[in-house]
Amino acid sequence: MDKFNADGLVIRVQTTGETTRIITVLTAEHGVLRAFAKGARGAKSRLQSATALFAYCRFSFVKSKESYIVSEADIKEVFFDLRNSLEALALAQYFCDAAARTIPEDGTGDKFLRLLLNSLHFLCKESKDRRLLKAVFELRLAVLSGYMPALVACENCGAFETDVMFFDALRGRLLCDNCTQTDGIALPLSVVSAMRHIVFAPFERLFSFTLSEPLLNTLEQCAETYFLSVTQQKYKTLDYYRSICIL
Ligand SMILES: [Zn+2]
Repeated sequence: MDKFNADGLVIRVQTTGETTRIITVLTAEHGVLRAFAKGARGAKSRLQSATALFAYCRFSFVKSKESYIVSEADIKEVFFDLRNSLEALALAQYFCDAAARTIPEDGTGDKFLRLLLNSLHFLCKESKDRRLLKAVFELRLAVLSGYMPALVACENCGAFETDVMFFDALRGRLLCDNCTQTDGIALPLSVVSAMRHIVFAPFERLFSFTLSEPLLNTLEQCAETYFLSVTQQKYKTLDYYRSICIL
């Protein structure tokens, strides 16, 4: 049996048996792991908080044949302030759901983990518009997962920018004013710049941009349509987030 430690964020919680949880953990060094936490649902279990959704912990895992078992966990952060806002909590649940279903299980998870931890941190602080955070998360997650949209120039004629450009979200490409056919989302240049920033900026500057109020809706629409298109999945957590945002 191999024993090892890893910092990881719990991105999915399932249950089995009377008191066992199966947690999906995003770690920097080992990517995505699924692990059994025996007894974690027991009222007195020391693993109860550490294996809840959004718990970021120093885990000790034991590898036995094909499965992992959580032997110990020291909590580093639980993002408790997400509970202050129903919308923030719902969006955080969608982020974790999307991460659990998108991030490849093999390979390292450091870039994914950094994106998710920072997104949860900003959601807790409520210092940035949720539409902006959602667009950053979806677009950057798509890029990290290997789905890079072609945003450098018009795909047809190579024009870097025209006053209005069109994003073909289903194909992940940009077309200029002259080359567009009728489909595509019309984008003022500031939205094109925001999308280029999200896709290309170094991580340290990823969240450092602003966009005026009505354009946040356009950015959100582009990112969501593109993300749903490339991942080919339906997210009940996204439907729920949408339903409470309308209320
Ligand atoms: Zn063109």
